[in-house]
Amino acid sequence: MLAQRTELFKSSATAAARAAAKSAADQGKEIVDLTVGEICSDLAPTIRAGAIDAIRQGVNRYTDPIGMMELREALAGKISGNTGQVWRADEVAVTTGAKQALFNVAMVLLNPGDEVIVPAPYWTTFPAQVLIAGGTPVHVDTRANGYVPRIEDIEAAITDRSRAIVVNTPNNPTGTVYDAETLAGIGKLAIKRGLWIIFDECYGDFIHVDEAHHPIVSILPEVRPRTLIVNAFSKSLALAGWRMGYLAGPKNVISAVKALQSHTTSNPNVIAQHAVLAHLLNGDGNFESELRCQLTCARQMGLSVLSALTRVPVPKAMGGFYFYLNVSDLLRRPRLREAGTTADDVVKVLLMKAGVAAVSGTAFGDPVGLRLSYGVPPEKLEAGLTPLVDVLNAWE
Ligand code: PLP
Repeated sequence: MLAQRTELFKSSATAAARAAAKSAADQGKEIVDLTVGEICSDLAPTIRAGAIDAIRQGVNRYTDPIGMMELREALAGKISGNTGQVWRADEVAVTTGAKQALFNVAMVLLNPGDEVIVPAPYWTTFPAQVLIAGGTPVHVDTRANGYVPRIEDIEAAITDRSRAIVVNTPNNPTGTVYDAETLAGIGKLAIKRGLWIIFDECYGDFIHVDEAHHPIVSILPEVRPRTLIVNAFSKSLALAGWRMGYLAGPKNVISAVKALQSHTTSNPNVIAQHAVLAHLLNGDGNFESELRCQLTCARQMGLSVLSALTRVPVPKAMGGFYFYLNVSDLLRRPRLREAGTTADDVVKVLLMKAGVAAVSGTAFGDPVGLRLSYGVPPEKLEAGLTPLVDVLNAWE
């Protein structure tokens, strides 16, 4: 018999979508997998050199549970540059990917029964971690407002038990970039109602429209004592497998996270820490520019294929590297409505008929959404999107 806690979560739905793609491929079907939440790229040269140097030097010891001081200082410098404020090493923890940063936050901030506002569609791990920590996710539907939460909707969802709000911009899965006015509104509301802000900016380096990425602490500096910034190198340096993330916030939260991490994973992998430190000290920004170029090209090419969609709106794809399709018009036919058809069924049809693997919006609390990653090589993207458009245009 497993613990009751295991009933609160199952394996991440994006992982399940990947598994379905793999199983179709194993049966001999040619599948283009657009489910992946990472960018196909080589390593940054500075990361490679930093890791190799550390291995040559025989680095093998534990570090501080929340990372080497030099790395935390370098990260504090990076965050200071991004926010236009002074950040210090004791306000920063290095974590095993952004996932651990978020998990730490849930574990050190939430009491049983505390509610966390999570705008929907949401990245599937946010509510799962809140539940594991004993909290209750409360969703605010953003679909009628271009996937941006309305301040009045957030306010209506706040109760006496509300403890925090998750702000994820650029957003996974929708690609939406929150404007400064929305962030200021959320910030003011958080102050008024005494909420923590969990600010996930993992996709902040990838903005494809005129709107800039705004750290909420820069828009409204008064929120800094109640804001936890979550970020990682998984997306920005295409380093997902190296598991390097970080958390920045008030010192007392970072101290609690240090104690927690000392009992869970201890320090993040030391070779990866050295590699990221070498990159932060010696990187010239070229690798990041190339990665941004790669995504800009992929997005342009993808949008040009998707512009042939006749019954599904072409996505805005403002930031990150996902196209998020709203297939509600396809599912509106009485026959499909009666059968309870959802994006899950669309995903199955796309896998069978177009040989494309996508993630259904049900994973993100949106049964009429579909997420396609364009972090894949361009030839794959075109090979996946072209038949996908044909199948969706011919949808019965
Ligand atoms: N936050 C968001 C919004 C994400 O989409 C992801 C990964 O897909 C993460 C956090 C986790 O990142 P990491 O791989 O660094 O744990």
